[in-house]
Amino acid sequence: MKKVLFETVIGLEIHIQSKTKSKMFCSCNAEYFEAEPNSHTCPTCLGLPGALPVPNKKAIDLCIKTALSLNCRINKETKFDRKNYFYPDLPKGFQISQYDKPIGIDGVLEVETEEGFKAIRITRVHQEEDTGKSTHTNGLTYLDYNKSGVPLIEIVTEPDFRNKQEVTSFAKSLKQLVKYLNVSDANMEKGQMRFELNISLRKIGEKNLPSYKVEVKNIGSISVLEKVIDFEIMRQESILTSGSIPTQETRGLRDMTGETYSQREKESESDYRYFPEPDIPLISISDDHIESIRKEIPELPYSKKARYIKDYHLDKKIAQILSSKPGIYLEFEQLIANSSTKIVPEIAKLYTGEYFAIQKTNKRHKEFKLEWLIDLCQLIIDGRLTRSTVKDVLLKSYLNGTSPIETVEKEDLGIVTDSEVLEQIINEVIINNPKVIEDLNKNSNAIMFLVGQVMRQMKGQADPNIIQKLIKTKLGINTK
Ligand SMILES: [Zn+2]
Repeated sequence: MKKVLFETVIGLEIHIQSKTKSKMFCSCNAEYFEAEPNSHTCPTCLGLPGALPVPNKKAIDLCIKTALSLNCRINKETKFDRKNYFYPDLPKGFQISQYDKPIGIDGVLEVETEEGFKAIRITRVHQEEDTGKSTHTNGLTYLDYNKSGVPLIEIVTEPDFRNKQEVTSFAKSLKQLVKYLNVSDANMEKGQMRFELNISLRKIGEKNLPSYKVEVKNIGSISVLEKVIDFEIMRQESILTSGSIPTQETRGLRDMTGETYSQREKESESDYRYFPEPDIPLISISDDHIESIRKEIPELPYSKKARYIKDYHLDKKIAQILSSKPGIYLEFEQLIANSSTKIVPEIAKLYTGEYFAIQKTNKRHKEFKLEWLIDLCQLIIDGRLTRSTVKDVLLKSYLNGTSPIETVEKEDLGIVTDSEVLEQIINEVIINNPKVIEDLNKNSNAIMFLVGQVMRQMKGQADPNIIQKLIKTKLGINTK
């Protein structure tokens, strides 16, 4: 039987917890991690009768900022709606969300894939509140409403993903973006970023969306998200291959292996009986307000990376590391603020290479100054320090709080320019390696072995190019 080839169709819904002091519709503390259960609650977030919600302006501004960064149009008039369903962790019997007038619509996020950049369309970005948390154990259910009413930004994509790599790339870019914007810490271990996957398969070549859709909710990590995709592709492929169509349903996550199980037939929008939240009036967002938020948006990771490559001719990998998070790019930009463009690549290399490595495992002396990295690069460029000794000098500066120049002088780590010492070592190496000298006729690369021997005896404190020249002169090889 001829094997039918399928294509994956995936859409994502992402919930991101905004970084606000208080909850979405009350003044309770929104920071609930490890807090005593039910200690951050009030009549509003407990859903008691008569309590009225008051929208959190800061949360709405963070949602606008996220929507703008995802290239969305902002609805000048936005409103909140009630999404009705019953669940013990939802004491009101409804969640305040947004239905037909979300804050942002029609956006796009470009993500890097194996085949280059791909634009993923963003359907909507809206503001809502989180529910409480139920814990089932020993036949009992415990309810904690500290999380109830915490602001959540929901981002919904079009079904534009065709494979796992695109989804992963998007998830990582989005996580980086909201952290960059300081909208959220997006800490997945703390549940601050959660995914909902909509996945189905169609025959390759088919243009229409599949007739069914499987939803998997509450995926708390990118690695589990990948496993769920693998599992669902296999499961749905076997159903389709046998001639049936997978059921349209919501599936639960069995465990961290990504295996899913049937939970319930998927709700449709009408099951939620959405209607406008009568306790919150329409919210108008002025052009001026949108522009003032737009101005706060920093240069975003992808643009920054591209600019580093273009302006400073940095290696792609180094530019990627440098633009990955504010803690890094702010320090780097401060470091290069007064340097000439010529020295920047050397600084970038030293900063992300030797400096990062040293910083990871050593304690920084309080006198150590970051700008010493510039001095170190200057020493390399001036030929006073070799790349092989630079780490040594930097480590000593880092631990002792002495400047590189002082360290080089004190520890005698600079390049040896005394040619008598060098010549003596070169002579010894030539005498001790007759076989290699013989090989030189057949294999000119053998000279590198000799250079290595000399470098080793000089403990890296010599310029390999000068050594090579001196050896060639000694052996009467044409140096051109
Ligand atoms: Zn409250």
